[in-house]
Amino acid sequence: MRKPVIGITANILTLENCSERAAVGTDYVKVVEMAGGVPMILPVVTNKIIAQAQIMLIDGLILSGGYDVDPLLFGEQPDKRIGYVDPDRDNHEIWLVKSAAHLKLPVFGICRGIQLINIAFGGTIYQDLDAVPGVIKHMQNAKNSVSTHAITLSLGSTLSGILGSSAIVNSFHHQAVKEVAPGFVATACTADGIIEAIENPLSEFFVGVQWHPETLLARQPQMLELFERFLTVAAR
Ligand code: MN
Repeated sequence: MRKPVIGITANILTLENCSERAAVGTDYVKVVEMAGGVPMILPVVTNKIIAQAQIMLIDGLILSGGYDVDPLLFGEQPDKRIGYVDPDRDNHEIWLVKSAAHLKLPVFGICRGIQLINIAFGGTIYQDLDAVPGVIKHMQNAKNSVSTHAITLSLGSTLSGILGSSAIVNSFHHQAVKEVAPGFVATACTADGIIEAIENPLSEFFVGVQWHPETLLARQPQMLELFERFLTVAAR
């Protein structure tokens, strides 16, 4: 049987000598391989036609973590606490995720990826969680293989079907989904009310998570099942 090809969106890393690298964390590559797929890195391109050609090569799309999304894309001026932004990557991923939705490909957004999905389909994000009263610590001081806060999952969601009604997850974000995009629902949240997952309920697998499941496999093997479900849908 042909193994599904999974596109993983790449970052542009600038090295100290100012040269740039199209790069993606190896944890994303490894987890796709472990789940039985063929990982393919999708570098940022600035031509929409080429981006659409990239989509035609894959069976499923992973939107990987990275820098902040440009607030101009959701109609806001930059907060003083906004981090590094790269509109080329933002636009590339927005083209990819909209094309993936049009072609009914499964989509899995991770960390920045949940925010990118939400913005691409008309939602907003908090530019910095410090502005939200009563918020817990979402930028953990612990290794990425360690989970530090609880989430509650919505009954009937794709995620609760795999993880159950609650989970402990890692947390490396200073932003989060604010208004959920039309057509999507929030399916996980923390005790402080911050949204940690969104899903498109009309799709077989169109999920964004605010945590990094790909770095939790050693301690929480059930996180691999998220990728296995995603790959099962991609294989059809
Ligand atoms: Mn968090």
